[in-house]
Amino acid sequence: MFPRDRWPTLLGIFGAVVALLTLGLGGHIRDTGWSEQSLLGIDLGSWGVAVSVLALFLILQITLNARTALVRERRLVEVAAELRETGVVLERLATVDPLIGVLNRRAFFEQLEAEVQRSVRYGHRLTALMIDLDHFKELNDRYGHATGDQVLIATGSCIVENLRSSDVVGRYGGEELVVFLPETTTEDGGLVAEKLRAAVEGLAIESDDTGQADALPVRTTISIGVASLPDKPSTGEQDLIRLADEALYAAKREGRNRVCIASGSAGAR
Ligand code: GH3
Ligand code: MG
Ligand code: MG
Repeated sequence: MFPRDRWPTLLGIFGAVVALLTLGLGGHIRDTGWSEQSLLGIDLGSWGVAVSVLALFLILQITLNARTALVRERRLVEVAAELRETGVVLERLATVDPLIGVLNRRAFFEQLEAEVQRSVRYGHRLTALMIDLDHFKELNDRYGHATGDQVLIATGSCIVENLRSSDVVGRYGGEELVVFLPETTTEDGGLVAEKLRAAVEGLAIESDDTGQADALPVRTTISIGVASLPDKPSTGEQDLIRLADEALYAAKREGRNRVCIASGSAGAR
């Protein structure tokens, strides 16, 4: 098919040809003496018809051009919307962990770094939680990795649901999650951590793995280390996470399924 956007040009050429044919016909009529008044050897009546035909095709061409421009503009708007959607998808792929749906480690640390700088500058409180699933290797060994993945997803969702929208959750690695709570003291961070611990302990996770039906629902627990920006303002995000990690290991040592607060944190008990 002839491309749509070439139709106006085609119509213009067609109009000119028709007008020329009309003029030719007019000349022929005059030669036969049918009409008396003429211009350039063509009678005025034929000029009139030719000009009218040309004007008609010109109007049609302008209308079609406008229509083509409109179609093109609509397509541009559609392409811009598609590009925006692609940008959102790419942004999501670059920042979100594909399994658990929380921030990936890089994106989390970018946000934490900015939050630490803000909190240090304005003297705001900031608390971080390091969370690790207990005996997760055993869980994988017992139920299989597919069920292990489901437990990770359910635990991640449970943690997100029990936090405020201003709190930020990331996947630190394997079965470890990390959270920062803006404007939160160590004491309040400890309460939040305890709430998360209890919520995960109460989860009954139904696995899709029908081979495990007798052992369902699956249950898990988490250990949490809590650390806050200390009063001295030199602490960076790496120190904060290191303190939370140390507290997490203390929670593991003390028996798991518990919350421990870092000794270096402001207000630590
Ligand atoms: P602890 O209580 O001391 O934390 O013991 P643990 O078994 O949880 O810790 P360990 O570090 O020995 O094992 C972590 C396990 O987590 C091993 C690894 O296979 C599993 N794991 C890490 N990432 C994933 C994942 O994406 N999916 C699944 N199913 N398992 C994972
Ligand atoms: Mg673990
Ligand atoms: Mg671990």
